[in-house]
Amino acid sequence: MSARVVVIGGGLAGITAAIALAESGADVTLLEARPRLGGATCSFNRDGLIVDTGQHVFLGCCSAYRGLLAKLGMTEHAPVQDRFDVTVLAPGGSAPRRARLRRTALPGPLHMLPALGRYPFLSWAERAQVSRPALAMRRVDPAAPAADTQRFGDWLAARGQSERARRALWDLFSVSALNIAGDDASLALAATVVKTGLLGKNNAADIGVPALPLGELHGDAAATLLAKLGAQVCLGAKVTAIEGGAIDSAIEGGGRFRVRLARDADLAADAVVLAVPHAKAAPLVPAGALPAATVQGWAGLGASPIVNVHVIYDRPVTDLPFAAAIDSPVQWVFDRTRISGMTAANHGGPGQYLAISLSAADEYADVPAARLREQFVPALAELFPAARDARVTEFFVTRERRATFRQTPGSGALRPKAATGRPGLVLAGAWTDTGWPDTMEGAVRSGLAAAVELRKTVLTSTMGVRQ
Ligand SMILES: Cc1cc2nc3c(=O)[nH]c(=O)nc-3n(C[C@H](O)[C@H](O)[C@H](O)COP(=O)(O)OP(=O)(O)OC[C@H]3O[C@@H](n4cnc5c(N)ncnc54)[C@H](O)[C@@H]3O)c2cc1C
Repeated sequence: MSARVVVIGGGLAGITAAIALAESGADVTLLEARPRLGGATCSFNRDGLIVDTGQHVFLGCCSAYRGLLAKLGMTEHAPVQDRFDVTVLAPGGSAPRRARLRRTALPGPLHMLPALGRYPFLSWAERAQVSRPALAMRRVDPAAPAADTQRFGDWLAARGQSERARRALWDLFSVSALNIAGDDASLALAATVVKTGLLGKNNAADIGVPALPLGELHGDAAATLLAKLGAQVCLGAKVTAIEGGAIDSAIEGGGRFRVRLARDADLAADAVVLAVPHAKAAPLVPAGALPAATVQGWAGLGASPIVNVHVIYDRPVTDLPFAAAIDSPVQWVFDRTRISGMTAANHGGPGQYLAISLSAADEYADVPAARLREQFVPALAELFPAARDARVTEFFVTRERRATFRQTPGSGALRPKAATGRPGLVLAGAWTDTGWPDTMEGAVRSGLAAAVELRKTVLTSTMGVRQ
């Protein structure tokens, strides 16, 4: 008989665990509270326009996430740049200033040096200092507790990075990767990003941008694959409790665990993967499965918001697929015209749909859309002169108040491993101890770690599970 595994949470962590366990021969049921799979990576339909609630990108080095895309048959729909290539814009009156950070074919970290050496938004003296922290990063061990206690900004400042260099260069990448104001980020997590992306292979930081709405790329594709693998997916299935799992406990109906649902009948399971956000996981962990201090410690991970500002023009205003900005409230801006399915027929003209992605967006999370419009429409016009003559036909805002945990110093110590004190109950989620920031790559890694933990413990001995 196959092992019965219940996976709770249908984000990328739960999807990955469910696929891996179903492939191993387990009898998998995936329970997701919402009416769709995909978790934080989701899309909705707005008058025929397919909108992602938050623009997502990934890097060439995101091997686990790219492995999931391959399994879902989605690799070609999430293309990665041939070479890292980012246009950085800054307001400049009638002619906005513009820089291009493009890597060469040299091995890392030499691949970035020519572009950084020419970067016009820093002085000559500041440019000369940039390689100092990049090279010093070689000696930072992201897994060392000492790295988890330091602020990235302090560490950069101690290595000659001026306020200007931190804002106009390092923030470009650290704020979006770690969703926290650059100076405040945990050095350990920044080190993971810099070491992998900048000091690793020369293609590690090449940027991947989904070419399909996230709902299709992840949620729909996962539902199709899981059905093929024989896994059962239950949507609108909110779990209210997990019981059992103690060594001597016996569950009526067999299995080691009982999973209670808000609306449906309870499920018996031999193993459970709990793959929900940290605040939701804490009350679901059965008493005694982990020390109370560990579970209470998760609360300290907190939450950090991401806001997306969506602006639709009556005409094209830029031919850039995406760009970063400095000296502007705009952080990153993406052309979503094609991905959203916007056409002349459904939006009345050859318009353009831009989405501004604002990370570490505490100051914007509660600001009314009308006020954001007053700020961001002129800000875009300063970066894209063609926008000055264009008419804004639609403007709306999406807000993810708990987009990621707060990736500040000390957060590493609060992230738990997959295993709990109850054999057969494992944790997953981008917030668990993956060594990676709260990202799609971290979520997929956590799902794989959960599946490996179950395979090497409870699923090997009694059940029909392939190794
Ligand atoms: C706006 C935004 C932009 C982002 N940008 C990027 C980016 O550019 N690149 C990147 O790599 N990452 C980005 N991220 C982060 C990335 O989306 C997350 O790290 C990742 O998707 C988290 O996956 P997860 O499976 O761990 O959690 P989630 O996606 O949160 O999934 C958890 C699931 O559990 C379900 N659930 C909760 N409680 C229950 C319950 N009681 N019963 C059943 N189900 C339950 C939830 O409904 C949810 O579907 C972004 C996130 C946001 C919000």
